[in-house]
Amino acid sequence: MNVLIVGRGGREHAICKAMAKAPSVERIFCAPGNAGISSCAERVKIDENDQDSLVKFAKENKVDLTVVGPEQPLAEGIVDRFLAEGLSIFGPTKEASQIEGSKSFAKDLMQKYHVPTAAYETFQDAAMAKSYLQKHGVPIVIKADGLAAGKGVVVAMTMEEAEKAIDDMLIEERFGASSNQIVVEEFLEGEEFSFMALVHEDVIIPLELAQDHKRAFDGDSGPNTGGMGAYSPVDHLPEGIEETSFDTILKPVVHAMIKEGRPFTGVLYAGLILTEAGPKVIEFNARFGDPETQVVLPRLKTDLAAVLSKLIKHEKTELEWEKQSMVGVVLAAEGYPGEYKKQISLNQFKEEQEWLFHAGTEWSDENLYSTGGRVLLAARFGDSILQAQEKVYSFLENHNTQKLFYRRDIGHQAAKKR
Ligand code: ATP
Repeated sequence: MNVLIVGRGGREHAICKAMAKAPSVERIFCAPGNAGISSCAERVKIDENDQDSLVKFAKENKVDLTVVGPEQPLAEGIVDRFLAEGLSIFGPTKEASQIEGSKSFAKDLMQKYHVPTAAYETFQDAAMAKSYLQKHGVPIVIKADGLAAGKGVVVAMTMEEAEKAIDDMLIEERFGASSNQIVVEEFLEGEEFSFMALVHEDVIIPLELAQDHKRAFDGDSGPNTGGMGAYSPVDHLPEGIEETSFDTILKPVVHAMIKEGRPFTGVLYAGLILTEAGPKVIEFNARFGDPETQVVLPRLKTDLAAVLSKLIKHEKTELEWEKQSMVGVVLAAEGYPGEYKKQISLNQFKEEQEWLFHAGTEWSDENLYSTGGRVLLAARFGDSILQAQEKVYSFLENHNTQKLFYRRDIGHQAAKKR
C-alpha cells in the first residue's frame, strides 16, 4: 500500500522509518518532512496544515492510508476532511482531538468517568483563580486550556509564580485564545511515564511504555521543553503498572469518548504519573508522542501499516516487540527552549542514517543544517538501558556537537533503580 505521513519532526521520521520496514508498504510519502526523512520517504512540498492540497495529493497518488503526526492539523479537522472525501486516515476527528486540544474537556471527562487525575478547577476570571490559589496554596499547577506547543503549563512553587502565571494567561493573553480559560490543578508527586495505544473506537492496542525527559538540563532541572530524550521499555516501575493503567485509565477513557459521542481513532497518548495512590493522568495527547515514538516504534517488529489498516476495520493485531531497550538523546540548538541558535551546520551527521532521527533539519545543496530548536535525536539499542545509554553517549562524544547541547542523563531513572 501507499502511505502518507503528515508532519516534519522526529516523530514523523520514526513513523516513516517504521513504514519503510513494513512489508505491506510500497511507497511512503511525507508532507513536508525534513532532511533525514528524504532517505526513507518521498518528500512532498505541502504544509501539514494545508488540507486542500493534502487531500488532492492523496487522491492523485493513490494513498491508501494517511497518518498524521502533529496536533495542529488534527485540531483543525484534517481527519473529518479526509473521511468526507472517502480517504482512509488514522487519527482522531476534530471533536475527538479535543481530549488534547482542551485541557478542561479532558479534565471534565475524567471527572465524569472517575478516571484518576489531579483535583482541579477551571477559570476564566483571574480574581476567582487567585482566590482558589489562596485556598489551596503551593505547589500548584496552572495550565492554559488550549494548545500551546508544550509551553502552556506552569508548575508553580511559590505564590508569586502562580499569580504571575494566572495573570500572564488570563490578563496578558500570553497564548491568545488558548489561554482564555485555564485549569488550576493539584500538584502530583511521583515518577512520570508515557503510555500510548493505537485506538479505533472500542478496539485498543497498547504500545510498550516509554519515559520522556521534559526538562532542559541534567537532573531534571531547567525549563520545560518538548522533550529532551526518551527510552523504552520502562521495566523498573512496579509490576502490573501497565495493566492497572490500562484498566483504570485507557480503557475507561476510550469508552467514555464513545459514550460522549466522540469515538476516538488514532494514537491515544496518556502522560501518567505514579503517585502513592496509583497511576494518575497528567495529560492526554491525541497523537504519537515526541520523542517517545522515536524509541518505541523501532522496537516494534510487526508491520505498522498492516496493524493500522486492520485496526480501522476493527481488527486487532497482537504486536511483537524487540526485547532490546532503546535510548534516544535529543540534540537541541543552544538556547532552546528560549531564543536559540539557527542554521547550525550539521555536516558531521550526514553519514549517520540508521538511528539518527531528524527533527529541525534541512538540506541546502549538499549541506545539512538546523532549522529548529530540537534538531536531532540519536538513539541506540542495547541489552539493557545502561548499555544503550553507553552506546548513544559514546556516539555523541565522537561527534562535534558545537552550538548544540544535550542531556547527559537520559535514562537515569532506569539506571538508578537497577
Ligand atoms: P506536552 O508538550 O506534552 O503536550 P503540555 O504543555 O500539555 O505538554 P503537560 O504534559 O500537561 O503539558 O505538563 C508538562 C509537565 O508539567 C508534565 O510533564 C509534568 O512534569 C508537569 N506537570 C503537569 N501537571 C502536573 C501536576 N498536576 N503535578 C505535577 N506536575 C505536573
